[in-house]
Parts: sequence; structure tokens; C-alpha cells
Amino acid sequence: MRFDILTIFPELFASPLQEGILRRALQAELISVKLHNIRDWTLDKHSMTDDRPFGGGEGMVMKPEPLAACLKDVQTGGKGHVVLLSPKGRQLDQAHVERLATLEKLVLVCGRYEGVDERFRLQYVDEEISIGDYILTGGELAAMVIVDSVTRMLPGVLGCADSAANDTFSRGLLKHGQYTRPREFEGLNVPDVLLCGDHAKVREYRFLESVRETLARRPALLSRVEFTSSERKLLKREGLYQKVQQMMKNHAN
Ligand code: SAM
Repeated sequence: MRFDILTIFPELFASPLQEGILRRALQAELISVKLHNIRDWTLDKHSMTDDRPFGGGEGMVMKPEPLAACLKDVQTGGKGHVVLLSPKGRQLDQAHVERLATLEKLVLVCGRYEGVDERFRLQYVDEEISIGDYILTGGELAAMVIVDSVTRMLPGVLGCADSAANDTFSRGLLKHGQYTRPREFEGLNVPDVLLCGDHAKVREYRFLESVRETLARRPALLSRVEFTSSERKLLKREGLYQKVQQMMKNHAN
């Protein structure tokens, strides 16, 4: 998959792309990330990418012409899906990440200052994405969140050891708590069941812990979980079934 990133601060991306899974994905050519400095598409002698807002008011606005010129060049090598990072956009979630991971080319446009000229948005943007209800100084970190979360969903990027199948959100349940050595830490022991070597029991325990965590922290997520018949039996046995059903009803759309 190819990511094209339009930014006035391409250097911001250097470090996250040089570590861990992203670095491996780049080396294995499972992804490519092309950084485009919008300033290189300015035409005036001061290389201005922003200007004062018409109508007055605070801050500066990113000019549409350098953005459009940069985007047109980026699209000549094959048209990609154009995402503008914006706090006004649709809030990113795991289902959205998984849809983005099916695309061949994603073009991420990073705003700065007060954001981009509205006419650029109207003419060129396919979708606006927010990473949460708070304001960042620029779209670069949000673009990096998309590169990171989408990359780990691509085939071949994660090994078995860090598989995404059992992650929080993958089927609507939060992940169970996890433990490693030592067996005892500051008076707290690893639950016995995780030491018993019975894989079926461990699976049951982890499933029930996931359900309990989800009930306690994010009950609305339960509305989209599909339980198997053996999972339903297990929930009944543990006295959780009615509570889960009730939450599913409360949060059904
Ligand atoms: N004045 C704008 C407003 O009130 O909506 C906020 C502009 S913000 C300081 C500058 C840029 O950061 C935005 O154009 C956008 O690209 C990016 N940005 C800020 N918060 C974001 C968020 N929550 N998700 C995605 N991008 C964000």
C-alpha cells in the first residue's frame, strides 16, 4: 500500500517510520510512504503556504493553490483516496481503519494554522478524518496515526506473535488483561488459570475477562458483538448472559 503525505513539515515523520513494525513494513516493501513538502509547490518568491483569512479573524489559512498543485502531481502516478486530517471529520475507529487498509493508495493532507482553504476541501477531498475531539497543532500526528493503524492491518505486516485478530475492537470486545514474568509482583499474583497449561480453560478465562472488561468500561461496544452458541452457554454459566443481553439492547442503534 502506498501513502502520500502532503505536509509543510515532512521531517516530523522521520522518527516514527524508522522504528519497529513500520520500519519492517517499509523494508519489506509492504508499504511505501512518500512525503511531499507543500512548500515545493508554491509560486511566489517567499514560498508562502498560508495567508490571512478573508473577513478577518485570528490565525492564518493554508492557501489552496500550492495544495492543489502538489496533489495533482501526486495523483498523476495513480489516483489515490484523498483524506484531509481535520477535527471536524469523521472520528477514526477500528472498522474505519480496516476499510482504509483495503485501498491501494491513500493521500493524507495535513493542515496547519487555522486549517485549509474551504475551496481546496470542496474540490479535492474525498473524506475528512479526525482522530478525536481535541485540537492538534497540525495534521501530521493524525496522519501518522492513520499510517500506523492501517499498516498493521495489511497482510504480512504482523507476525503471529502480534496478530491483530484478538486485539481490542477487532470483534467489539476489549482485550483481557495480560501478564508476564514474574509470577508475583508487589504482592499481586498471576491468576492460577494462566499457569495451569490447559489451553481450553485459558481461552474461556480470557473470553470472560474480555466480556467483563467491556461491560465495565465500554458497554456500547457489545451491541455489535456476535457471540457463538458455546460463548452464549459460557456467559449463561457465569451469570453474565442477561447483563450482556440488556447492554446489547440498550445500545442497539
Ligand atoms: N481552527 C481549526 C478548528 O477550529 O477546527 C483547527 C485547526 S488545527 C490548529 C490545525 C490542523 O491540525 C487542522 O487543519 C488539521 O489538519 C489538524 N488537526 C487538528 N486537530 C485534529 C484532529 N483532532 N484530528 C485530525 N486532524 C487534526
